[in-house]
Amino acid sequence: MNDVFKKLIGNPTTREFFIQKIGEEGLALIRILLKGRKYVSEFILAEHSGIYVNTVRSLLYKLYEDKVVSYTRKREKSRGWYIYSWMIHPNRLFEILTKNKRLKIKRIKSKLEAPAKEQKFYCKKCDVKLLFSAAIEYNFSCPNCYEPMKVFSEKKINIQNKKLINQLKMEINKLKELREFIKEETIKPKKKKAVKKKAKKKAVKKVTRK
Ligand SMILES: [Zn+2]
Repeated sequence: MNDVFKKLIGNPTTREFFIQKIGEEGLALIRILLKGRKYVSEFILAEHSGIYVNTVRSLLYKLYEDKVVSYTRKREKSRGWYIYSWMIHPNRLFEILTKNKRLKIKRIKSKLEAPAKEQKFYCKKCDVKLLFSAAIEYNFSCPNCYEPMKVFSEKKINIQNKKLINQLKMEINKLKELREFIKEETIKPKKKKAVKKKAKKKAVKKVTRK
């Protein structure tokens, strides 16, 4: 089960997501939540991670915004406050991350299709791009750093963008693999189901042979 955590954090996309949301220290919570895949009391989370209960709650709330975790709460009768229990939903995580990457691809693709009506000039240093008509006013020098600007090559940019799209597609595939891995890891006790499915397939085959 520890393997699941390692794989999840070993993937740059999922790692970045968690680091941005809950920081390095919060990763300890993910490790614990992945172990049981059930609701875990915030007191147990605090005890096992060494993070204060209040911090546990505020960190996990940040993941709750994206529904990567969910909670149940119980009122403690003697003191009247709520105790939260948290559960992680890796599938939801993969959904979000894959969707984001697909959106990025879409955005880049729309750029690829944009036809260049007028020649453009570019300063790489400042990331400034001007149409020919504007660049001529600056005598083809960057209005920011005064260095000479270069002709902006659509072709080059298209190649770069296509590379980027391929990169994103690869990352989506990696997420898919990871998703499958985590699914397998956590559904191990239900191996019987897979056997049943095979049996069914065989039965179907027999029928079609007739
Ligand atoms: Zn410049």
